[in-house]
Amino acid sequence: VTASFSSPEGDAIKVFVRVRPPMDQSLAGGDGDHGLCLSVLNPNTIRLHSKPEPKIFTFDHVANTDATQESVFSGVAKNIVESCMNGYNGTIFAYGQTGSGKTFTMLGPSDSDNFTHNLRGVIPRSFEYLFFLINREKEKAGDGKSFLCKCSFIEIYNEQIFDLLDSASTGLCLREHIKKGVFVVGAVEQVITSAAEAYQVLSTGWRNRRVASTSMNRESSRSHAVFTVFIESMEKINEIVNIRSSQLNLVDLAGSERQKDTHTEGIRLKEAGSINRSLSCLGQVITALVDVANGRQRHICYRDSKLTFLLRDSLGGNAKTYIIANIHPGSKSFGETLSTLQFAQRAK
Ligand code: ADP
Ligand code: MG
Repeated sequence: VTASFSSPEGDAIKVFVRVRPPMDQSLAGGDGDHGLCLSVLNPNTIRLHSKPEPKIFTFDHVANTDATQESVFSGVAKNIVESCMNGYNGTIFAYGQTGSGKTFTMLGPSDSDNFTHNLRGVIPRSFEYLFFLINREKEKAGDGKSFLCKCSFIEIYNEQIFDLLDSASTGLCLREHIKKGVFVVGAVEQVITSAAEAYQVLSTGWRNRRVASTSMNRESSRSHAVFTVFIESMEKINEIVNIRSSQLNLVDLAGSERQKDTHTEGIRLKEAGSINRSLSCLGQVITALVDVANGRQRHICYRDSKLTFLLRDSLGGNAKTYIIANIHPGSKSFGETLSTLQFAQRAK
């Protein structure tokens, strides 16, 4: 008998499915589901129009094509930012095939470089909320409490780590530290004192990523972008200084699509291999974490990929994790949508 772990508080990993609008808006209306491979039945349930019979999937939340950026942020990130303020690590992943809306969800519209854009995504909204909470705490505690926030922004491509805040650096290593946990050796950690400063760092890194994508041939749809905010709070109570630290990881994953061209050779093949490796390793870690949450004993293979090893201290245990599974509703995307829903289902 496999017990399903349904306590909302105890869930190892939560899943938020977001259905992006179809390219052609006319497909979404009129004669019902024509041209679409799925329907959202209610805020937890999605029906995939598979043959011979439909498949039903249930998640923590399913957001339909009309979901706003604000509602995705509040559904996914608010609790995680709050728990980071309480000293717990948190991670938010955007998973899905290229074009499914990962970057739109995390950052905002691709052409915008504007912190106040009304379509800004989960990452800038998390910055705003984090500094809102920090400022509120500081007001409450006066001089007794202070915060130090830093951030880093790295890219994992072909199982190699690049610093998006220092485009000269290549092939960075991961190391374990007794207090810090796993970290990227030599990655720039930029101090930030406001949401606007955090956004500056984000857009600098994002520009570097775009440049590397053309000049270094590091195709960004094949790499994972990991933005991390390190939060440290110091509170003085009766001459004792209490220090708490946590980190918030915001991850735009590589496209999950299978490589169609079986004749791909050399670099591209290696690329495809390592992307599959790190995404499938993420899937295995997730499955193992769910088993552990269900009381089974499992070894969790964090070390099998750079991504999972880097995030080891932010996945499982007391850490909060949300996966945003981005899907495209068009019939042509049926195969990739099915595989994204199956991946997401492993976390449940
Ligand atoms: P991915 O990062 O998964 O490859 P993108 O986020 O770049 O996908 O999305 C592809 C295109 O679709 C972009 O132009 C993006 O702005 C647009 N898009 C994606 N999701 C939405 C949405 N929910 N609403 C409006 N436009 C969207
Ligand atoms: Mg993208």
